Amino acid sequence: MLKQIVDRVDRILRRGKPRRIPASEHGIDRRNVSRHAIKVCEVLQQHGFQAYVVGGAVRDLIAGVEPKDFDVATDATPEQVKPLFRRARIIGRRFRLVHVVFGAEVIETSTFRAAGSSGQSTDAHGRLLQDNVFGSLQDDAARRDFTLNALYYDPHTEEVIDYHHGVADLKQRTVRIIGDPQVRYREDPVRMLRAVRFAAKLNGTIEPATREPIAALASLIENVPASRLFDEMLKLLTCGHAMDCVRRLRQHGLHHGLLPLLDVILEQPGGERFVELTLERTDARVRSGKSISPAFLFASLLWQQVNQRWQTILAQGQPAIPALAEAVDSVLAEQTDKLAIQKRFVTDMRDIWFMQPRFEKRSPRFVWRLLEQPRFRAACDFLQLRAAAGEVDSVFAQWWMDLADASDAERAHMLDDLSRQPEAAAADAPKRRRRRRRKPAPTDGQAPAGAA
Ligand code: ATP
Ligand code: MG
Repeated sequence: MLKQIVDRVDRILRRGKPRRIPASEHGIDRRNVSRHAIKVCEVLQQHGFQAYVVGGAVRDLIAGVEPKDFDVATDATPEQVKPLFRRARIIGRRFRLVHVVFGAEVIETSTFRAAGSSGQSTDAHGRLLQDNVFGSLQDDAARRDFTLNALYYDPHTEEVIDYHHGVADLKQRTVRIIGDPQVRYREDPVRMLRAVRFAAKLNGTIEPATREPIAALASLIENVPASRLFDEMLKLLTCGHAMDCVRRLRQHGLHHGLLPLLDVILEQPGGERFVELTLERTDARVRSGKSISPAFLFASLLWQQVNQRWQTILAQGQPAIPALAEAVDSVLAEQTDKLAIQKRFVTDMRDIWFMQPRFEKRSPRFVWRLLEQPRFRAACDFLQLRAAAGEVDSVFAQWWMDLADASDAERAHMLDDLSRQPEAAAADAPKRRRRRRRKPAPTDGQAPAGAA
């Protein structure tokens, strides 16, 4: 409490002057900073520019988390940055910045911006339509979203420049918006989702004034372009704390009507277990440094909805594959409209879903064909998830996993064994009445052979 008062007085007295926090206080070990980001700062500084590592990387380094990537902020314009590096390109039309490329690592280098100043164009709700006006370091700090994201690390002096008490907030794991919360959320409603994500990631809290307007302004998210929402949702779901994010979204009243996907995730009766399993697994993967396939993630999150509709259509007497196709189409039509799931992900999601009924058919000819499908491995992982949720038999799911991991010779053995166990093969037969087809069916992956 006392600390908060001292901080507040300090904020007022310093007005405009940043704190320069030494390494002994912020605790960043220079060896954990990308040498390429250091290089970019050094080159720019040698040419008389200001240059700092900024944003998420500084936040994560202070919090003891390994940063995903390193960004640099500078007072040099993109045209001044580009010629200083051998491999650099100017990107972005609206928000122009420079990608400085070092092998696989790209250092995103942006010029200080001044946003929120008068004369900036906004939509009727106050949403900023452009933020491409160059400014000073102080302007740049003020246009950032949260105090803990407005920190600038100087690799030369090893100081962190802090205009908004971000280091103190970070040490207290407090997410505090810079400026007037109402205005800042209206400028960019995505900041509400970001507040939740950072609080979850830090296992911290959203400061009361920052939290307070969220419930009332949540509907502004509807005005955000779908592609941005998709990127932000993906970040939220793959930050390693998705379960916690989802729990917090619910707490903040951000779970209803925000996105159809969230409605599905959070409000589906009976679907919770599947979603929970998906998010738990995703979190575990992220935390152990493994990659996440967005297609797999979205296929999992939407599966309950697909499955429910599929079962309903099946009950009306339609054959399995056309019924599944109808269910998939209707779910995707609803979701992709608002969320703009990218086409390449949608293609993979379909492959994963349409392979599910094909697992039921374990005659050698079908199995060998299925093994050749490019999405076989993902579909097989998906089957494990369904087994964990109690939707399919776990011995059956494990058989497919073993098959996926086996050599061709071992696979032949497994199929041989299976043909000698008629009861196992019979267990594959779904409860519903099957129609037998003799004709070879199409093999385009969308209408798999013989699965009906
Ligand atoms: P992470 O990459 O771990 O998700 P990040 O903080 O790096 O977190 P980015 O989206 O990469 O997030 O943004 C980089 C920086 O740009 C942020 O740290 C913040 O300073 C600023 N920023 C990003 N989005 C916004 C926004 N919507 N409003 C204001 N500033 C933002
Ligand atoms: Mg980042």
